[in-house]
Amino acid sequence: MSTIAQNLQAVDHTIIAAANACGRSRNDVQLLAVSKTFPPEAVVEAIGAGQRAFGENYLQEALDKQRAVAAAVPGVHIEWHFIGPIQSNKTRPIAANFAWVHTVGRLKIAQRLSEQRPADMSPLNICLQVNISGESSKSGITWDELPELARAVALLPNLRLRGLMAIPEPELDLARQRAPFARLRAMLEALREDGIAMDTLSMGMSADMTAAVAEGATIVRVGSAIFGSRTYE
Ligand SMILES: *Cc1c(COP(=O)(O)O)cnc(C)c1O
Repeated sequence: MSTIAQNLQAVDHTIIAAANACGRSRNDVQLLAVSKTFPPEAVVEAIGAGQRAFGENYLQEALDKQRAVAAAVPGVHIEWHFIGPIQSNKTRPIAANFAWVHTVGRLKIAQRLSEQRPADMSPLNICLQVNISGESSKSGITWDELPELARAVALLPNLRLRGLMAIPEPELDLARQRAPFARLRAMLEALREDGIAMDTLSMGMSADMTAAVAEGATIVRVGSAIFGSRTYE
């Protein structure tokens, strides 16, 4: 077995253990393999091990990789997720080349993605990025702004609002890792009680996926635990 295949298996076991520990099913958690900075060959290797959903942060790198992967494994359906910061002049290729966008934090970006989503594609799945640690340097919106944005995004015709995403500050301790994930889960539940339909919590990375699954993550975004450490950002 290749290293990537072994790593995928190890991550799968981590998710299973975390899910079992809190009475959840492995099938309720989707593994998004974050392939940023890694070459198409690494993605193809992961595909060979059965992985189908990949996350990318940088648009041009992602488009080049998508082309190379499609040529290497023609006919295999890959689900690409955009998880990086979004500049408003880059929304058109994002709308045309991804199934999901996890990092929407402004209505203007959502409106452009909806307008630019090609008519022959299904609605673009959207997560709103929440600034869960409350730091001004971090991207994402605050709880105060969230209900209004969620309501507006839910009305856009070519988008499907799926849920919330966050990247908390790194913490080593499990209890401290769980706290911001619990807050994000509470926000999702509050919005749902308000009548906004959502089914997704995109939270948890290599270092904190166990805490995220314990708090209800439905998508964990895992890079280095699958592909190894990144040599540039
Ligand atoms: C890079 C990245 C990840 C994966 O991080 P790892 O620590 O390598 O698992 C997940 N989510 C986002 C938004 C990222 O930018």
